[in-house]
Amino acid sequence: LKSVNPLKKLNREISNYVSKKQEEIDELKRMEIFRREFLADVSHELKTPIFAAQGFVHTLIDGALEDPVIAERFLKKAAKSLDGLDILVRDLVVLSQVETGDIKMIFGAFDILELVKEIFEQLENKANKRNTTLVYKPKDLRACWVYGDKQRLSQVLINLIDNAIKYGRDNGKVVVELNTENKKVEIVIEDNGPGIPQEQLPRIFERFYKVDKSRTREVGGTGLGLAIVKHILNAHDSTINVTSKIDKGTRFTFHLAKPPKEIA
Ligand code: ADP
Repeated sequence: LKSVNPLKKLNREISNYVSKKQEEIDELKRMEIFRREFLADVSHELKTPIFAAQGFVHTLIDGALEDPVIAERFLKKAAKSLDGLDILVRDLVVLSQVETGDIKMIFGAFDILELVKEIFEQLENKANKRNTTLVYKPKDLRACWVYGDKQRLSQVLINLIDNAIKYGRDNGKVVVELNTENKKVEIVIEDNGPGIPQEQLPRIFERFYKVDKSRTREVGGTGLGLAIVKHILNAHDSTINVTSKIDKGTRFTFHLAKPPKEIA
């Protein structure tokens, strides 16, 4: 029987303990950096609509109110900035909940085809304004069961389909494809819009990252939609992939589990 040198053993235990503590410190440091950056990003993003609304309201007070035509124009602009602020704060609340894992996920089996159809109805007006067609594939699909948090996954689909409409092109087409695999369902959201430059693709899931800043401002985007998508899918043990070709379109793909046998 080999005898264990007690000093060696103690040494090993101490060094294990120190490296575990070092890992904890590193993690705390990472969290602190994340928190500081998050706060800096948020205050920067909040400033834009606040300054804009402030500017319009002060110009009104300083005399623009006297001209009804100008007054109406400025009031509408102030209202638009405040609406943007409202959307931003809502998205921030959702993002901070999903980022910190501070939401209760309610898992269950549901028909994702039914959900896609509901979302198409919800976004129909928006799509019509751009003369964009919304279709699902395969055409003869009757139902497609998956397992997950329906409300959160509905947010994922809305964000991706809404993006495909607003960053796609006029007279465009958005296709949602549902492919049943062995134990999973593959979900693809594809548009035939202007696409995203290759070097920017890895960054689009970062919070506040905007590829086309002027287009994002025009359509009232917050730059948080895809960060929310990434975190919700993460909570479903799923990752999202994106491929894009300039002037051809963009394609997002992710997988969801099929319901367990005892539920299906
Ligand atoms: P937002 O919430 O402002 O829409 P997202 O986080 O959803 O922002 O998307 C980040 C950026 O990625 C957008 O500002 C836009 O520039 C770009 N983007 C997202 N989806 C598409 C798409 N389907 N086609 C082209 N660009 C896109």
